[in-house]
Amino acid sequence: MKRKGDYFSNSLRINKEPLVMYIDMNSYFASCEQQRHPELRGKPLGVLTYDSPNAAVIAASIEAKKMGVKTGMRLRECRELCPQMLTICTHPAWYRQIHVDVMAILRTYCDDVIPKSIDEAVMNFHSYKWVYNDLTAIALQIKADIAAKYDYLKCSIGIAPNSFLAKVGTELQKPDGLVIITEHNIDEQLATLKLTDLPGIAGANERRLRLIGIRTPVEMRHSSPALLRKAFGGVVGEYWHRRLNFGEVDMYNKVENRTMSATRTMSSQQSRDRQQLESMLISLCTRLEQRMVKGGFFCREVYFSIRYRDGTKWETVVKLADPVQDAMEMRSYIKERIAEFEKSRGLADIFTANSTNLTVVIQSFVKGQAMQYSLFDNRLKRDLLRKVVYDIKDMYEQKNIVRRGSELLSPHVMKDAIGFGSVRDMVPDEEGRVRNRHMLEEDAAPGEQKIIVIRQKPLPPPPKDDVDAYYEYQGPAYADVQFDNETIRQ
Ligand SMILES: [Mg+2]
Repeated sequence: MKRKGDYFSNSLRINKEPLVMYIDMNSYFASCEQQRHPELRGKPLGVLTYDSPNAAVIAASIEAKKMGVKTGMRLRECRELCPQMLTICTHPAWYRQIHVDVMAILRTYCDDVIPKSIDEAVMNFHSYKWVYNDLTAIALQIKADIAAKYDYLKCSIGIAPNSFLAKVGTELQKPDGLVIITEHNIDEQLATLKLTDLPGIAGANERRLRLIGIRTPVEMRHSSPALLRKAFGGVVGEYWHRRLNFGEVDMYNKVENRTMSATRTMSSQQSRDRQQLESMLISLCTRLEQRMVKGGFFCREVYFSIRYRDGTKWETVVKLADPVQDAMEMRSYIKERIAEFEKSRGLADIFTANSTNLTVVIQSFVKGQAMQYSLFDNRLKRDLLRKVVYDIKDMYEQKNIVRRGSELLSPHVMKDAIGFGSVRDMVPDEEGRVRNRHMLEEDAAPGEQKIIVIRQKPLPPPPKDDVDAYYEYQGPAYADVQFDNETIRQ
């Protein structure tokens, strides 16, 4: 097994040769359905987790996308844009089968294939430099091999010196794209993109960049590491500089669940209301709790950060001997740290009206079966109860028919924070169900039937991965950052 260090241990030696290939299957779930139902081909199609006007479309066919349908829209909305859209419920086992077959095809060309999600993979051709002299020919051959097995499936392929730029390459041409990014054409290619077209640059990051005068990907690429550090508040800025200048940051990172994060950006109105901030913290913890309960695991580390309008942030990481899963427990650890800090600083107040963003990240996961319960603890009972609540929720379409008190605090905040799970959450689970992973489809308060569609911010592009968390939060960054309960980042 090759590790990151094998090729990229020395970050000063930057490889500029385009030896990394990124494959992104186009409109994956929808194309899979069209593959096995020829009668659906060439037609606008939405894939749903269940059939109801309020269900969210988790994938749209290329034809539906042309009509304006986007991943995550409610069926009702899609119908307004595209009345003739057909729908089908998910068949996770089928998508998984195709994933396995596609990966097998990729592995006939290269040993170093890293699946990034059910419909994406990165291939590292560094050790094949002398074997293949034309990677575009390989890319075309891969497309042909996939088509020979599944004639309706198309993919976009990007080839570049690192995995980030290769992924950018897949964004440049869709569907069925093939783009090479080299040191000679990179600026020309990036010039066609907006900042938010870069994977990992969503609203908040874009604002940060604009704040320091960076308006385009090309400007970003030519900014100094120091400037980007300033924009992103630390080593993350350095990573961004490397990504855009041929350094490798992402290829072997976070292959599976190394961290999970929930983050929420707030309006100035929201940040003025301390109760709102508290509710958001609970909703973020709850979101992570849901993901852990469904995944059957616990975590040993809880990281919390709050960012402020001036670009500074306060952060803390709680390392636990006993793994946690419970949202309120995670919250209480965070609150404890906050209280300690506030006390030590006399009048420091962490939740101020200048707050712009709250993030909770969990890591160091422990499988549920491996959990040790101490004798004199009622944990076991509580953990089982939590599982039961979620199981009951699963039995009802109206999921919040069962709610715990903590979830009632501020349902609107909750809804907004939960939004969509990452694609990892949508990847079919062991039993082959994709339904109802961590999405709360119906999150109106009890007795209130209005469905609030999350629309304040444009939805992120198809949530392939936890893109923000993936690119913004780097586990290994711990080494550079001192995490005690009083670190304020400048
Ligand atoms: Mg895709």
